[in-house]
Amino acid sequence: MKVLVPVKRVVDYNVKVRVKSDHTGVDIANVKMSMNPFDEIAIEEATRLKEKGVATEVIAVSCGVAQCQETLRTAMAIGADRGVLVQTDAELQPLAVAKLLAALAQKEQPQLVILGKQAIDDDANQTGQMLAALLDWPQATNASKVEVQGDHVQVTREVDGGLETLSLTLPAIVTTDLRLNEPRYVTLPNIMKAKKKPLETLAPADLGVDAAPRLKTLKVTEPPTRSAGIKVPDVATLVEKLKNEAKVI
Ligand code: AMP
Repeated sequence: MKVLVPVKRVVDYNVKVRVKSDHTGVDIANVKMSMNPFDEIAIEEATRLKEKGVATEVIAVSCGVAQCQETLRTAMAIGADRGVLVQTDAELQPLAVAKLLAALAQKEQPQLVILGKQAIDDDANQTGQMLAALLDWPQATNASKVEVQGDHVQVTREVDGGLETLSLTLPAIVTTDLRLNEPRYVTLPNIMKAKKKPLETLAPADLGVDAAPRLKTLKVTEPPTRSAGIKVPDVATLVEKLKNEAKVI
């Protein structure tokens, strides 16, 4: 069973991004970039499936600039067997990525695609769902447990108020939640081994996909700064202020 894992190169979660002065977006020049944390969880899960003998091959795919190769090498150091870079300098929105992944899935014929539930840069939480719709495959989002049983995958999802268990017929789409697993540390020998694994580069046109953006960002602004708080001498003053100044009671 082949497992396809899309991995996105995003601004590292430790970086505090700044809005550009012209409000067209955030400044990502010279900031540390890393693999989207939910995608690390996806690669870890696929690698565990391979170690259990359930998966035969794990393919990592990244769509974006040439530097996404580094993200793919990290995925291969965790355990992916090979990488595919769909290279473009153009802005990629979730629908375009979903179309590229759908075309790649048609080509590679994986039984399972494991994505992150969301990318921490755009917070879109759309790609997995759009991919499922384009391929017309069943989907289970926000997985906290994944078990492949024959031609089905059983997925436990964290939902409001408890856990939901779904059984999907393969091929299927799964998106990862934080508690699915704890990704392993990437070791130096595995980084060295990853350098020798195959990495194929394609252009969106090779997959027959028009990846042009469909949405236009009008403006990006910082959230308003919080105004300073005040101290009140007693409860009576607090109640009076809540009633007459804040008008919330
Ligand atoms: P999003 O819908 O943007 O929040 O992204 C959800 C998931 O889709 C990510 O966790 C990745 O698994 C996948 N994904 C999104 N964009 C890309 C990309 N450019 N390359 C590879 N995978 C991506």
